[in-house]
Amino acid sequence: MVLRAPGRPLEPADLADPVPAAGEVLVRVSACGVCRTDLHIVDGELAEPKLPLVPGHQIVGTVAAGGERFEAGERVGIPWLGETCGRCRYCLSDRENLCDAPAFTGYDRDGGYAELALAVEAYAFPLPGAISDLGTAPLLCAGLIGYRALRMTGDAERLGLYGFGAAAHIVCQVARHQGRRVFAFTRGEDADAQQFARELGAEWAGDARGPAPEELDAAILFAPVGDHVPAALRATAKGGTVVCAGIHMSDIPSFPYDLLWGERSVRSVANLTRRDGEELLALAPAVPVRTHVTEYPLERANDALDDLRAGRLNGSAVLSVS
Ligand SMILES: [Zn+2]
Ligand SMILES: [Zn+2]
Repeated sequence: MVLRAPGRPLEPADLADPVPAAGEVLVRVSACGVCRTDLHIVDGELAEPKLPLVPGHQIVGTVAAGGERFEAGERVGIPWLGETCGRCRYCLSDRENLCDAPAFTGYDRDGGYAELALAVEAYAFPLPGAISDLGTAPLLCAGLIGYRALRMTGDAERLGLYGFGAAAHIVCQVARHQGRRVFAFTRGEDADAQQFARELGAEWAGDARGPAPEELDAAILFAPVGDHVPAALRATAKGGTVVCAGIHMSDIPSFPYDLLWGERSVRSVANLTRRDGEELLALAPAVPVRTHVTEYPLERANDALDDLRAGRLNGSAVLSVS
């Protein structure tokens, strides 16, 4: 499925089989998760995708050809971080997620809404283990970004999650495994999402516009809603951190300094490092993380994006590719 211009639906297309260059592998795609970032790209909120573009950056498949790192037939995952320069000050200081010249999968490079995809083999993850292809796909961005955001909260015990979608439903399980208490803040009166959050271990779930039931030690904002920043600061105890985990957010309204005072901090989390991926993929079976997946055949990618945009999904949408 191909994006020809932002603001237009994806179109089915017959593309030539991609040919791996040196250091790349050709992957036969089995499943590809649908991420809110895909929606921001399709809707034109992220300005500079390659065009035409095959979106998708939570790719699970098997190696078909190329490279030296993987055997043919080995199961691999391809994440958002497609390649980095390896030379800039960020790459050289263990911060490859901030690389000055990165290439992102499904944005700068064609992604996984397709039968075949290329990956730079050094940035692909080996995927041994028993979790299904469909169940694994959401770990590769929702899980990874969520995990990185969770790390940024330090040892916060009382954790607020604003927006209970694909990432939060994974983070909630990891946070509970770590012994934290989880509070889920959802869209309005979204009883389905609130029930879903409680089933996954949140001890409270309610309207993000209302007050928190008690003070939080940290909050992670997954919903791309700038209004949540002052709300989350207001809910957070002295010394607490508010982590913005999305790649795009509506403007943050001005707020009184009192909300930041007391050594509270607001920060964003950008992209992922390969270390984040290795850690989460090792941790997920121990939790064990159970992803809640709604499956769509590849040709229904536009329906998956529409359902995500409208908030009709619990958990993650994943495209299955046969
Ligand atoms: Zn770099
Ligand atoms: Zn993503």
